[in-house]
Amino acid sequence: MIPPAFDYHAPKTVGEALGLLGTLGSDAKLLAGGHSLLPMMKLRFAQPAHLIDLNRIPELRGICLDDTVSGDEVVIGAMTVENALIASPLLQARLPLLSEAAKLIADPQVRNRGTIGGDIAHGDPANDHPALAIAIGATFTLQGPGGTRQVAAEDFFQGTYLTALADDEILVAIRAPAFAAGTGWAYEKLKRKTGDWATAGAAVVLRLTAGTVSHVRIALTNVAPAALRATAAEQALLGQPLNDTTIRAAAAAAMAACDPAADLRGDVDYKTAMAGQMVQRAIRAAAARAH
Ligand SMILES: Cc1cc2nc3c(=O)[nH]c(=O)nc-3n(C[C@H](O)[C@H](O)[C@H](O)COP(=O)(O)OP(=O)(O)OC[C@H]3O[C@@H](n4cnc5c(N)ncnc54)[C@H](O)[C@@H]3O)c2cc1C
Repeated sequence: MIPPAFDYHAPKTVGEALGLLGTLGSDAKLLAGGHSLLPMMKLRFAQPAHLIDLNRIPELRGICLDDTVSGDEVVIGAMTVENALIASPLLQARLPLLSEAAKLIADPQVRNRGTIGGDIAHGDPANDHPALAIAIGATFTLQGPGGTRQVAAEDFFQGTYLTALADDEILVAIRAPAFAAGTGWAYEKLKRKTGDWATAGAAVVLRLTAGTVSHVRIALTNVAPAALRATAAEQALLGQPLNDTTIRAAAAAAMAACDPAADLRGDVDYKTAMAGQMVQRAIRAAAARAH
């Protein structure tokens, strides 16, 4: 299927892109990897008169460490593609959850063009980066005509395809604290086949002190209108030892927060039950990595 006609713009800087966005207003859409936007255009769910391509803006790509803040922060340009996350020695060493989980996103061809920023800005509850970003405590740098602002990942996703991004803003970077030594992490994703979106997914980041949980973040994929931080599940673990009883309690609390949409991947009960299973698996896998 062929998308409707549009004018194409290829700015070279974020400033130029913001200028175009300001001038063209709601007739324009930003283009990243195009793997979500172009299918929507082909189906006529989106019919922008202008596409502003972010691919020729070098400042939006790359992964680096910001050691000027207290505790190192990893900074990922919004136009960094999934395969670059997988290949990054910095992420493998300091935020390995992201490089490992990116291997579970789509297929190699999609990962070659699809960007972390597009995955987040799209606001699709089925996408994996939203829950991953919540679990690692990421903040998003949004740039608009008046400057930049930081929004915590858990405040960014407001509903299905609904985010805190204003029409005149660009997501320029994703920032997250590098994992402290001993941090355990895991992303468990149930999918029908390789390359599919999650039926249910759970991201867990935790630390143990003297055998009890001293830090934990749990976030869920595709079991609510938006990516979900499972705070009650976290509370069920904080200060507790990890055993069958506490892990099951956390899974039950996570399931109670689920509100999935029934679709071809399953009905509400099945998806909720699978979310509980993914939470249990992810807690156990994260605990096995914590030391
Ligand atoms: C076959 C297939 C399987 C897939 N499987 C998965 C999967 O398992 N898990 C998963 O997470 N995703 C999956 N995806 C989606 C894929 O990861 C997309 O690449 C991603 O959703 C969008 O990223 P993009 O760079 O292609 O963005 P685009 O499609 O170009 O843009 C998506 C939206 O975000 C906006 N946007 C893009 N960048 C910015 C920015 N920097 N600032 C503000 N707005 C911006 C665009 O205007 C558009 O509205 C799959 C896609 C396909 C085609």
